[in-house]
Amino acid sequence: MSTSFAGKTALITGSTSGIGLAYAKLLAAEGANIVINGFGDADEIEKERLELEKASGAKAIYSGHDLTKVEEIEAMMTEAADAFGGVDILINNAGMQHVAPVEEFPVEKWNLIIALNLNSAFHTTRLAVPYMKERKWGRIIQTASAHSLTASPFKSAYVTAKHGLAGFTKTIALELATFGITANCISPGYVWTPLVEKQIPDTMKARNMTREQVMNDVLLAGQPTKQFVTVDQVAAMALYLCSDAAANITGANMSIDGGWTAQ
Ligand code: NAD
Repeated sequence: MSTSFAGKTALITGSTSGIGLAYAKLLAAEGANIVINGFGDADEIEKERLELEKASGAKAIYSGHDLTKVEEIEAMMTEAADAFGGVDILINNAGMQHVAPVEEFPVEKWNLIIALNLNSAFHTTRLAVPYMKERKWGRIIQTASAHSLTASPFKSAYVTAKHGLAGFTKTIALELATFGITANCISPGYVWTPLVEKQIPDTMKARNMTREQVMNDVLLAGQPTKQFVTVDQVAAMALYLCSDAAANITGANMSIDGGWTAQ
């Protein structure tokens, strides 16, 4: 399995934390130039950026734009093109969650979740594809979710966005199939990251439960292995999808969910 990405550029949205940071580390270890994106402490992000460069022997840049805004997505893609002449591996990973009954779901939260978890993937893709077509090689990977295949109550915006992302990915896989460009979803179940940790208080409120009840009876209830997925397991799937061995995997939705969606 060839996984050397020296000379290639990977842009990973939402990569200052969690799953996105794990993708960045693994692709840097294979020699890729990296564009990281996301929010967080400036010193911490600079430390991560330098570590990525140390691991890759290549260049890593930070583009901290807010991907709920179209003009900021365009600015990020321009920065990537200016630094590296385009993007070869695009991982749409930035995402947010909000947990509330549909009749109380804040309209502003709905709009932000659809903008970030769904619309941003359309914008990064439309801006990255011309470079990929020119090079006749590209990898587009979405961090979708088990929620791209199934639903849970109180997560209407998130489930809607992730189902949309799955449909979008199948569509572009077909459009790009003869250009050496693949597009796939990775759909994790519950991965232990800040995104999961942050939704515990709201779920406690929405379901009137203790923290332990939310962990065992909600989060891991549907995950037959009764284990959280790790960020490294998710990143390893992305590395595989970027390899030549995966050149004929396109339009797929790869579950890493401890058996959740097998039920
Ligand atoms: P996380 O909260 O650790 O990371 C989210 C990243 O997105 C961070 O880097 C954050 O700064 C960035 N971000 C947030 N808002 C942004 C914005 N407006 N513009 C740009 N960047 C922004 O979360 P995570 O768990 O690593 O989630 C990553 C992806 O994985 C998300 O799309 C999430 O839906 C998906 N996912 C997570 C799980 C899980 O259990 N953790 C399961 C399935 C899918």
